[in-house]
Amino acid sequence: PLILAIESSCDETAAAIVDGEGALASDVVASQIDFHARFGGVVPEIASRKHIEAICGVCDECLEVAAKNLGMKSLRWRDLSAVAVTYAPGLVGALVVGVAFAKGAAWAADVPLIGVNHLEGHLYANRIGCPDFTPPAVVSLVSGGNTMLVHMKGWGDYETLGTTIDDAVGEAFDKVAKALGLGYPGGPVISRYGVKGDPRAIAFPRAMMHSGDLRFSLSGLKTAVVTYINGEREAGRELNVPDICASFEAAVVDVQVTKAKRALDMTGARTLCVGGGVAANPVLRASYEKMCSKAGVRLVLPPLSACGDNAGMIALVALDRFRQKKFFSFDFDAKAHVNLDEPY
Ligand code: ATP
Ligand code: MG
Ligand code: FE
Repeated sequence: PLILAIESSCDETAAAIVDGEGALASDVVASQIDFHARFGGVVPEIASRKHIEAICGVCDECLEVAAKNLGMKSLRWRDLSAVAVTYAPGLVGALVVGVAFAKGAAWAADVPLIGVNHLEGHLYANRIGCPDFTPPAVVSLVSGGNTMLVHMKGWGDYETLGTTIDDAVGEAFDKVAKALGLGYPGGPVISRYGVKGDPRAIAFPRAMMHSGDLRFSLSGLKTAVVTYINGEREAGRELNVPDICASFEAAVVDVQVTKAKRALDMTGARTLCVGGGVAANPVLRASYEKMCSKAGVRLVLPPLSACGDNAGMIALVALDRFRQKKFFSFDFDAKAHVNLDEPY
């Protein structure tokens, strides 16, 4: 089979085509970051509009690239075996663009339609760089909108072990970057400064690190960083941005690693994998590596290109659904919120 998957849940318009072996024949991402950066975050109305402008071109390019890679003269919608689309969670106005487009394309091409949970896509991103990866595993899902530990018992069989009670990790990176005037998105720029700083310079709080459960809290850390920045400014001291970034990252990562270890102990899983945009963070990757090698646990990481939003990860979920013949009827809607444990 050849399945085309569409992703439009936030500020990336993306399309990918997967073949029957799980290989990606094309994987196209058009980012809108430049249009949102001046507002310091994603503006939902702009996101919807930009998806509408981009989606035809992204899908055309996706079909063209796939044809070339598959050695075909051209690839038409009718040559596809199914059309898949992210239907939740995310910005509902952004999701609706992909969902409406996918419905129209699947209807016109007379092929089945598959709805995919975006968070499950982030779990499957681990399979892009590591095709032999199989559950059971604990997943540390750290993205712009979510922070959670998941017990992945099998493909499609997930138990959420704990989530953040306030901000997501990616959100904390974005808010701290904003407070430092470093622009949007915050993750990449904070990690660039962080490598030049001392992670022990400032003792930021490790909220809920020893709370005994697997929940997280990030808003207090963000406030602590902002309070520190204001204090330094009032005292007339120049900000040491690298030290602030490194110390902030250390506080985030300490908690993530401690709780992931706890989740491994609780579930008995021998594999840890990571998903979401923050999985690209070098300090987090290195710290997970250290913890896992010490614990004798296998660590699976998505390639850097597959940590943020992309359609390749959506296509891999769709291929499993296609094999199970789990198709969606054409009357389903985009949804802002959906849990990983919810059945289809
Ligand atoms: P969700 O997946 O929860 O719906 P989202 O799709 O908006 O949210 P992603 O695209 O998966 O989130 O991730 C984006 C987030 O990743 C942003 O908050 C960004 O700052 C963060 N991020 C990207 N690169 C890095 C990095 N190197 N270090 C830390 N954070 C990073
Ligand atoms: Mg994004
Ligand atoms: Fe995402």
